[in-house]
Amino acid sequence: MVEERVREIRLNPIIPIESVLIASARGARPVTKHESFEPDRRTRVDGCPFCSGNEDQTPEESLREPDSKEWQIRVVRNLYPVLDDDHNLPGYELGMHRVIEGYGRHEVVIDHRNHGIQIYQMDAAHIGAILVVYRERMKKLYQSAAGHSYVLIFKNYGPASGGSIAHTHSQIIAMPIIPANVEIEISSSRKLYSQYERCIFCMLIDENLSYETTVYDPTDGPVHRSIEVGRYIVDKNESFVAIKPFASRFPWEIHILPRIHSHDFRKVTDAECMDFAILLQRVMARLQVLLGVVQYNFFLHSAPAKMTEADHQACFHWHLEICPRTTIPNGFELGSGLAINTLSPEEAVRRLREAD
Ligand SMILES: [Zn+2]
Ligand SMILES: [Zn+2]
Ligand SMILES: [Zn+2]
Repeated sequence: MVEERVREIRLNPIIPIESVLIASARGARPVTKHESFEPDRRTRVDGCPFCSGNEDQTPEESLREPDSKEWQIRVVRNLYPVLDDDHNLPGYELGMHRVIEGYGRHEVVIDHRNHGIQIYQMDAAHIGAILVVYRERMKKLYQSAAGHSYVLIFKNYGPASGGSIAHTHSQIIAMPIIPANVEIEISSSRKLYSQYERCIFCMLIDENLSYETTVYDPTDGPVHRSIEVGRYIVDKNESFVAIKPFASRFPWEIHILPRIHSHDFRKVTDAECMDFAILLQRVMARLQVLLGVVQYNFFLHSAPAKMTEADHQACFHWHLEICPRTTIPNGFELGSGLAINTLSPEEAVRRLREAD
């Protein structure tokens, strides 16, 4: 099958500043590959502070699952926190610049006692347990007296993602502000809710919808083009769906969302975590089949604890964004804020669905 060439700017309906130039003809050009990255596949490493037997080498532990020597998951403070709860200077203003104190908490989730295991290799029950740990830490951090404004959960894997420690882990940062992209996602989805009287995320995941639109062709004049939304579903199960975003910033970007509307990840049940885990494992395995070693970031966008009035609950829909890192942003992308994606999302989703 010949890949359809696409050269168009796709506006992200929820975050307009994250729009993308899809230029699949560029895909024919040689791609700058990252220096090859060989994953550390060892199961245990003597000098690794995250490996079992070295528990005394990590800072304060906030959770251990199960609570025994044979733990499977541990949560500890980050030894080099980007935000911490020691008070330095209160916020201040410096001319036009405003400074907010870097108060917060930075934790590491040691995802598994096996040093080099990757998500696609873990069994779904273990991934489900990691997701339950995420939920419990998010609850605790929002409940703490510190009054954190936002709790961001994310994972970096591989040097191209900014990951520096080989032992499988993810991170949680409780911060004093709501990140601007989350604010925009929420304010924009609220606007779209008032326009459509429906959650935009629910609309986007409704696989049975198909849109028909009229586009202008320079030679043939107006032509009808039908876009089946179902085409963008990478995989799904009873409670979750994995979608290839129409305006994907990264060639292999995939989002996972609950199929039942929910704004707050803290409300996810243990059974739903299991369904989420099954889908996450399958999605990571598909990426592995297609790309071999996959360096990626993923992050969880859930509504901030303080923004739970009725309209947020109706308009915002929590989700996980998985962004495999196969390219480095260039000057055009930094200067314009417009990401270039050289693989059309239609082609990417076709390959992802086939990689079973
Ligand atoms: Zn280790
Ligand atoms: Zn929804
Ligand atoms: Zn998001």
